[in-house]
Amino acid sequence: MTADADHVTLEMSKGTLQTSPKKITLDRTWRACYLKMARNARHTIAQHKENIMGINMELMRKKLAALRGEGKSDRTSVWFKPEEGDTDVRIVPAADGDPLKEIFFHYNIEGHRGGVMCPKRNFGEHCPICEFASQLWRDGTDTNDEETKKLAKSLFVRTRYFSPVVVRGMEEEGVKVYGYGKQAYELLLGYILDPEYGDITDPEGGTDITITYTKPTTPGAYPKTNMKMRRNTSPLLTDKDAIPGLMQNMPDIDALFTRHSPEEISAILDAMLSGDSSAESRSRETTQYNTNKKSSVDKAFDELMAG
Ligand SMILES: [Zn+2]
Repeated sequence: MTADADHVTLEMSKGTLQTSPKKITLDRTWRACYLKMARNARHTIAQHKENIMGINMELMRKKLAALRGEGKSDRTSVWFKPEEGDTDVRIVPAADGDPLKEIFFHYNIEGHRGGVMCPKRNFGEHCPICEFASQLWRDGTDTNDEETKKLAKSLFVRTRYFSPVVVRGMEEEGVKVYGYGKQAYELLLGYILDPEYGDITDPEGGTDITITYTKPTTPGAYPKTNMKMRRNTSPLLTDKDAIPGLMQNMPDIDALFTRHSPEEISAILDAMLSGDSSAESRSRETTQYNTNKKSSVDKAFDELMAG
């Protein structure tokens, strides 16, 4: 379609270059004909674009819904994502004794929006992304290039924390997984280590947590997560007989993420780098990602990552 349009443009410009009077009539006829063809082609191109837009928008909506945990899987989603305002949750004791599980990810990897588990930090294996990011950082420092440094930073490993929780008012949905960032982790760890509260995960006499989630009011800002311990202790479930059953059906947090071998990570990195071989435009993409003009999917993703 585009080739045809280009052809028309080329022929038309040739037409205007014709100087022989004999050829003018013919050229005019041809030009009229070409103009008609060009209009048709433009019309088809426009319609084609519209179709493409339609497909993309639909895909975007689906992606957004998936990010927000909406749609069919909403009721059965294993993920707990706080709504704006206060939500009471209770951390459920983990089978391995660690209710604040740390998992290390690389983000901003094309085609892996939810992040890629770092083989080095999670499993003590070799990590091609860590290696690449460090090399990039050294290059950026050596040449004093801020863009390269920014790109390196965007690929550095980041920690996400995950806890098994029961959401108050939604106890019948069983144990869900709450993913949060460093700020929320520090708050939680502080409460857990504070002897005043004892074992906040104790099924009989533990303590519920009120999560206050505030969406950003200014563009580009991140949502805020605050946490407060309830004043009174309480059982995990009012029906204490149901507690063992609940705890036997805990989601396996590790199984929620794909473990890639170093070879697979290397292939993922190669694919990303070959998709856009110029480092300059890569860093432009990173810059764009960091600006306030984010798509709603990016915003939803940021919300998912923050807190
Ligand atoms: Zn890594």
